[in-house]
Amino acid sequence: MTLEEVLYWLKNEDERSLDQLWDKADKVRHSRVGDDVHLRGLLEFSNHCSRDCHYCGLRAANNKLSRYRMPEEEIMSCVEEGVAYGYGTVVLQSGEDRGLDVDWMANLIRRIKRETPLAVTLSLGERSEKELSLWREAGADRYLLRFETSNPELYKSIHPSLTGQEPDRLELLRTIKRIGYETGSGIMVGIPGQTFDDLAKDIETFRDLDLDMIGVGPFIPHQETLLGRKAKTPGILPEEQVPNTELMTYKVMALARLVQPLANIPATSALATLNTPTGRELGLSRGANVVMPNLTPKKYRALYEIYPSKACIDETAADCRSCMHRRIRSIGRQVGEGRGDSPSYKKA
Ligand code: SAM
Ligand code: SF4
Repeated sequence: MTLEEVLYWLKNEDERSLDQLWDKADKVRHSRVGDDVHLRGLLEFSNHCSRDCHYCGLRAANNKLSRYRMPEEEIMSCVEEGVAYGYGTVVLQSGEDRGLDVDWMANLIRRIKRETPLAVTLSLGERSEKELSLWREAGADRYLLRFETSNPELYKSIHPSLTGQEPDRLELLRTIKRIGYETGSGIMVGIPGQTFDDLAKDIETFRDLDLDMIGVGPFIPHQETLLGRKAKTPGILPEEQVPNTELMTYKVMALARLVQPLANIPATSALATLNTPTGRELGLSRGANVVMPNLTPKKYRALYEIYPSKACIDETAADCRSCMHRRIRSIGRQVGEGRGDSPSYKKA
């Protein structure tokens, strides 16, 4: 698929012709990764963060947020709950938490691998090669790090560097791959200042990085962030601005499936936040093959406020499990068994 074809679909607003895109993406999903929907238990185990991303409510400068870091035993009981629910993977996600002890994390990974059959996915932000290698050796299987946007200027303007160096998640993703992780990345759709050309290049980048997992969600403004408070987007014409809509998110997911057919693609919580009744089902019918039921204890959910009105903050892990099963059955698909490794990783 050429950049022009990608742009054609991104700008297309005609419902009838978009049906062709949904249909194509669904057929490719069916033929390349099958009808199983893999469940990843998401555990948001720490909301401490040392970064100051201009889009995210967890940013260090947000002093209105109470911070938590779950202790090992509490994490393990959530992990065991995930095993009991038949999940094949636990996703350990946090802010870029510099208070997280690197060896403690390695021991936790070892313990999960020793005591459960789960695949372990990490999503802990930008880490050194040494830390990433240690956790990989401890048994972590996958790493998620979204590059957010492939436009370096836009990225720099919304993601201040910690060290004074140029922030380069793309380079880090190549390192993650080299170390041997099954590698996931993705973007936010509709970041203020993101153009259609940028978005088309993001989709091209999914293919260039040969990603095993691709996470795509709409940008949702948070009042306690710079981007959430800005009324206007500087620098680009209004007609160039990508809207942060549900429809645009489906288009990017469908195109991601077409350019990287073997990738695991989740129907994300941000999408479900825009459309709680049917966002996940529509995502699964337009390219996605993964959902991430939340395993985080209810008392912490509201504190992991990346963006406001997040879906599922009043539910328990048990609620999320039965809700996901019902949704998957309702569209004639089935829950995948086992770890649900990406076939693109297996082929490597
Ligand atoms: N700290 C880690 C990191 O940045 O990779 C993992 C957690 S971070 C909260 C996970 C993802 O949340 C980010 O990669 C970003 O795409 C998404 N996110 C943050 N703020 C958001 C917002 N306002 N709207 C939508 N997604 C957002
Ligand atoms: Fe921290 Fe990740 Fe949020 Fe950035 S996106 S502020 S690194 S939690």
